[in-house]
Amino acid sequence: MHNKKIGLRIDVDTFRGTKVGVPNLNALFKKYDIKATYYFSVGPDNMGRHLWRMLKPAFAWKMLRTNAAGLYGPEIIFMGTMWPGIQIGKRLGHVIKESFEDGHEIGLHSWDHHRIQAKIDKMSPQQIEAALTKGVNCLTKICGQAPVSSAVPGWRCTDALLIEKAKQPFSYNSDCRGEFIFRPLIDGKALKQVQVPVTMPTYDEVLGRDGVSDDNYNDFMLSQLRPGKLNILTIHAEAEGGKCLEMFEQYILRAQKDGWSFATLGELVKEAGEIPEGKIMQESFPGREGWLGVQGIN
Ligand SMILES: [Zn+2]
Repeated sequence: MHNKKIGLRIDVDTFRGTKVGVPNLNALFKKYDIKATYYFSVGPDNMGRHLWRMLKPAFAWKMLRTNAAGLYGPEIIFMGTMWPGIQIGKRLGHVIKESFEDGHEIGLHSWDHHRIQAKIDKMSPQQIEAALTKGVNCLTKICGQAPVSSAVPGWRCTDALLIEKAKQPFSYNSDCRGEFIFRPLIDGKALKQVQVPVTMPTYDEVLGRDGVSDDNYNDFMLSQLRPGKLNILTIHAEAEGGKCLEMFEQYILRAQKDGWSFATLGELVKEAGEIPEGKIMQESFPGREGWLGVQGIN
């Protein structure tokens, strides 16, 4: 069904990722004639607070392993820690608009990435709804049309979140890790918005584990591709649009040489045919702190 296609998803978490990483990636996509799906964070950039959680040992290990300050730039440490975070959509709407006009699919990552990632399971349905609505309204104002999809930060997918998302204009979502496109079940009822799970690990999950380094990262990632099955790759504007840009260009070249092409996630949804129902579980995941939404496969 999907042949040799890679659904390419770009998560944009920060002000700097939007300002620097997104234009870099858009230029690369033009060069190789690639259309992809962007998930933008559009409210305050409070990601510095995220890094201050280094006080937790598991998180400190991950930051050391992936050199977070090197990836995100030194100012990330202060974002949202001493003053309210800069509003990304307000200041960098033109970057988001350019991505839309280049023909990429525009989705919502979050209003406040840090808050959702850290607190989603403590937020009320009203708080979740308010956050989604603010994000949708901001992207709609920038692009002149509503975002077609959304992807929760950190794959922190809960039933409460999916119920609130169902009220928004998204035609599909990408909130979990898994194997194939499916329709999530809540209380035995399948949702209309389908799920496109991410099938491959991210840079910060695998770097420094099991002998994977920048020298063999592309070999490892190419070995993750599964012809004839769903292949969804998540990159980050902060990493592949910055420090890892050259390495990512090499990945594109090698994948294309092997007969792979890149697509938006929406294109893969259209090609999916009959879509099965399934569950999303909350499980721990290699290279990530805490729990993630994972497709239940049995
Ligand atoms: Zn993110």
